[in-house]
Amino acid sequence: MALGEFDIIRKYFERHSKRQDVLLGIGDDAAVLRTSADRRLVVAVDTIVEGVHFPVGTQAADIGYRALAVNLSDLAAMGAEPSWMTLSLSLPQSNERWLQDFAAGLFHLAERYDVALIGGDTVKGPLVVTVQIAGYVEADSWLTRSGARAGDHVCVSGVPGEAAAGLAVIERSLSGAAAEYLRQRFLRPEPRIALGRQLRGVATAAMDISDGLLTDLDKLCAASHCGAVIDMAALPRSQPARTLFDESACVDFVLAGGDDYELLFTLPAEAGERDWPLRCTRIGRIVPGSGVQCMRDGQPVAVARRGYDHFAGTSKP
Ligand code: ADP
Ligand code: MG
Repeated sequence: MALGEFDIIRKYFERHSKRQDVLLGIGDDAAVLRTSADRRLVVAVDTIVEGVHFPVGTQAADIGYRALAVNLSDLAAMGAEPSWMTLSLSLPQSNERWLQDFAAGLFHLAERYDVALIGGDTVKGPLVVTVQIAGYVEADSWLTRSGARAGDHVCVSGVPGEAAAGLAVIERSLSGAAAEYLRQRFLRPEPRIALGRQLRGVATAAMDISDGLLTDLDKLCAASHCGAVIDMAALPRSQPARTLFDESACVDFVLAGGDDYELLFTLPAEAGERDWPLRCTRIGRIVPGSGVQCMRDGQPVAVARRGYDHFAGTSKP
């Protein structure tokens, strides 16, 4: 059987380096490098491909926005403040109207977060956009996927699943206010930079949700050598999604949808309700062992789909 995305990385690219300035390498949302005594450089890169990460026909401005947003989200997951980016563009043709719109979408977000474009590469080929992002975090205060401990609360920001519902809206050409709201949740995810900064020194572990809540929580648990139990009744529910899709589709969007770029994080067991950050929901608990179990009314729930893997198909049972 062909290797999945994460097996490819583990088998061929996850190599130990003796360099003392690599504080955190492959395996988290971004790398952390020692560049000075008081702060750390945080670096991540993400590629989006037409027909894979966004549907053919997506507006250029939305592609520009999204290419940066998904990268900012990885810095948010580390508790870092973004500063620069490089841009690698593979374009089927040189279309000025398209480029103008793409740049407008990209710089709209770049200006909001004061990110400077400092270099890149432009080639002819299928439509593929790669942004590499860098930023800073104060020494010893970056967030990782590996710090969760049994008893910790599992929390999530926003309403996961709305981006996947938005993608379904686009694919089915649905219209109306709820459809438009969900479409924007897919096309214009809001990177949770402020929340990531707020979680420094508070969260025991954090990551962003790009591939699906369950598959991403699996990764956090694997990195933390623990398991988790999700309380299905506690999951945030999307009113707009419920007006357009049936219950089982909505549950699938929340658990396996991906593309949300919300933060998934753990708080210490002793944290109380008043410690939940604004617009975040406690959805479960970290437990000893491994794997993520969904529960409803004290009973385990079987889940059809957990999220996205580029090489294993869409489902990771
Ligand atoms: P994210 O979804 O947060 O962007 P990924 O799931 O894509 O992270 O990747 C998991 C980890 O593997 C990250 O630390 C990433 O930097 C690393 N990684 C992915 N692809 C490669 C590669 N080809 N070479 C080296 N590291 C990689
Ligand atoms: Mg990530």
